[in-house]
Amino acid sequence: MNEETSEFAFELGVCHWAERNWPPAPTASDDAAALVARQLGTRGRRWDTIVLECDADALQRRANFGPKRLESDLLHVVRHAPEDWAYYRDCLPHPGYPWRYVREAIHQADDRGILETQRNGNRIEIRRKWVYPDWVERIVAVENKPDLDASAARVLGSQLEYDVAMALADEVWVGTHKTGERVEPALLEGLPVEAGILTLEEASSDAEVAWHPRTLAVDEPGTRILERPDGGRRDGSAARFEYVSPEEKAAKRLEIAERAYERGWRSFADTMRPDCRYFELRTRDGIGLRPHCTAKGGCQTATECSGRCPEFEPEPPTWRTNGWPIDGGPGARCRQVLEDRRRRRRPGLEP
Ligand code: SF4
Repeated sequence: MNEETSEFAFELGVCHWAERNWPPAPTASDDAAALVARQLGTRGRRWDTIVLECDADALQRRANFGPKRLESDLLHVVRHAPEDWAYYRDCLPHPGYPWRYVREAIHQADDRGILETQRNGNRIEIRRKWVYPDWVERIVAVENKPDLDASAARVLGSQLEYDVAMALADEVWVGTHKTGERVEPALLEGLPVEAGILTLEEASSDAEVAWHPRTLAVDEPGTRILERPDGGRRDGSAARFEYVSPEEKAAKRLEIAERAYERGWRSFADTMRPDCRYFELRTRDGIGLRPHCTAKGGCQTATECSGRCPEFEPEPPTWRTNGWPIDGGPGARCRQVLEDRRRRRRPGLEP
């Protein structure tokens, strides 16, 4: 298994563990639910794994708005739509961009069935169907590095410093292989003390907390590190920063949460070729489903598993007839299995 493949397999292991076991320490609230997604973040920073700690009841009400994400323009409309009919420019706060984009978002929301609209002469009036719930309680970001040697730790260290200064997530963690040594090597690598360390046992996919994280100040202004000295001994240049307001952070957090709601972590198959005859979904010791390529003899990454793969062969047409439980053969069946599991984590969505 090459490095990229083993990191991908490890990342799926962390996602699956988090889905079953989050939060790692007991909390005061019984009424919590965790949603897990992967490879999400902002333009400047993408996290490997994201865990959303949600209010279970509010998560159920989020389902009213459907399985697809609400982009920022749609969120602006549905979050401020009034209970009774009103002209949209009277009831929505100025968005900070031209109103014609708001009209476009209103039509989109209407088409998706998440907003009521009517014409009153030339005017478009709107009315909400449901209150958009406050469903996200905390956002936890995990950076995965199964083999955390000193050079990987240096790169990871500056990424985590960025996360800590920005405080967009409530907690940041490093996920790494459990070595079983008396002191886990990750603890010796000089990572920021605010970051938690989670060690995952490869064989059983059980994880342990080696270091608890600090809760970051998501409601306070964040500091975005734009540039930093390269660290050479003669480098006396100053780092460059900019401040990010709590409002901007709150909007970004909700956008990330919406994308996580849509994608989950099983979306890997969306960019792979389950219609290849060598594609399978396998469990390891009954733990989670992960892609497996019978031609390569192991877990493949999305980069490998594409139409450009030299070993790609479409599943034979005969596999698509007679005997497959749904139309489309095993490739379509794989997608359906993953989609069913994704939906199971989002209560209230129609099957
Ligand atoms: S042969 Fe290539 S395309 Fe087919 S499952 Fe394996 S990696 Fe994917």
